[in-house]
Amino acid sequence: MSRFFSEEYADLDPYTPGEQPRDGVYIKLNTNESPFPPHPAVTEAVERESRRLHLYSDPESRELREALSAATGLKPEELMATNGSDEALFFAFLAFCSRHTPAVFADITYGFYPVFAQSARVPFREIPLKADLTLDPADYYHAGGTVFIANPNAPTGLALGRKEIEGILERNPYTICVVDEAYVDFGAESCLPLIREHDNLLVVQTFSKSRSLAGGRLGFAAGNPDLIQDLNTIRYAVHPYSVNRMTAAAGIACLAQEKYTQENCRTIQKNREWAAGALRRLGFILTDSRTNFLFARHPAVDGETLYRKLREKRILIRHFSAERIRDYNRITVGSRAEMEKLVAAAEAILKESR
Ligand SMILES: *Cc1c(COP(=O)(O)O)cnc(C)c1O
Repeated sequence: MSRFFSEEYADLDPYTPGEQPRDGVYIKLNTNESPFPPHPAVTEAVERESRRLHLYSDPESRELREALSAATGLKPEELMATNGSDEALFFAFLAFCSRHTPAVFADITYGFYPVFAQSARVPFREIPLKADLTLDPADYYHAGGTVFIANPNAPTGLALGRKEIEGILERNPYTICVVDEAYVDFGAESCLPLIREHDNLLVVQTFSKSRSLAGGRLGFAAGNPDLIQDLNTIRYAVHPYSVNRMTAAAGIACLAQEKYTQENCRTIQKNREWAAGALRRLGFILTDSRTNFLFARHPAVDGETLYRKLREKRILIRHFSAERIRDYNRITVGSRAEMEKLVAAAEAILKESR
């Protein structure tokens, strides 16, 4: 830290992203990226748009919001495009939390939530998941703050049904509930259909996971037009051009390839079920993941050791040091070939450690 760094942020504990190795020799199962590249139509659209890079992007992302509107059935004024869903989430912390309205979220959830709360200088309250890592909706009734729920949750992979979220919305009429649906396309129920009935609901989605655009940085928020306007006020105070031209073009082209996206999601679900079965046969204990990752522990090897030994075998997975989940690892579901290598490597490690 330099001697000039603001004392306001001296205690900031920033997010630790999964490692991105420079030598491409790892099987990368640590950051929940898609194993599938973007559709060729997406790459072509990006190339075409790159010829207009001398011009600023549209701060309102009108064309992209029209495409999102067609895809979701919502109106463009109910939608806002952002630089990854992380930006939408951060804007929500800035817009809807305050000294008197803390952020409220689970103790085991997306690691960025406490960081965003700190960056936004707002208090937060963590609600422990139950012992089996499920989330009890009743814990969020009358939460007394702005609720953030990743659904499905990360890194547990577990999902609530739409009805359960609706129960939370109904019991928090004076505060916002933000539902982070980064993984919803892999087998959970979206809350987008609830937006018209609940003016305290903000849904956030991303193109990073199911839509093969993690490096493009594209996400969106959906909610009633007043909420979207509030987020836009923040946007124009921070970063109006945050969705660049090429990313907007990629998003529009991607939405036109819905069949490709759905096929990829189905393949990942199949690979997930195959890998989960194979790991269970090796004695792993897994949560019922509705996402593109598995959350697994083994009674005979601790989480950190498995992570380290897989790394020696050039397979990267994600280990978290938080007390309650240190026995676990989060393993991104990749291609079938990658999953086969993972299972074989895990089997070898278990044999060695016996
Ligand atoms: C990956 C992820 C995001 C954000 O992804 P972006 O790349 O910023 O769109 C948000 N929430 C959860 C729970 C995630 O896992």
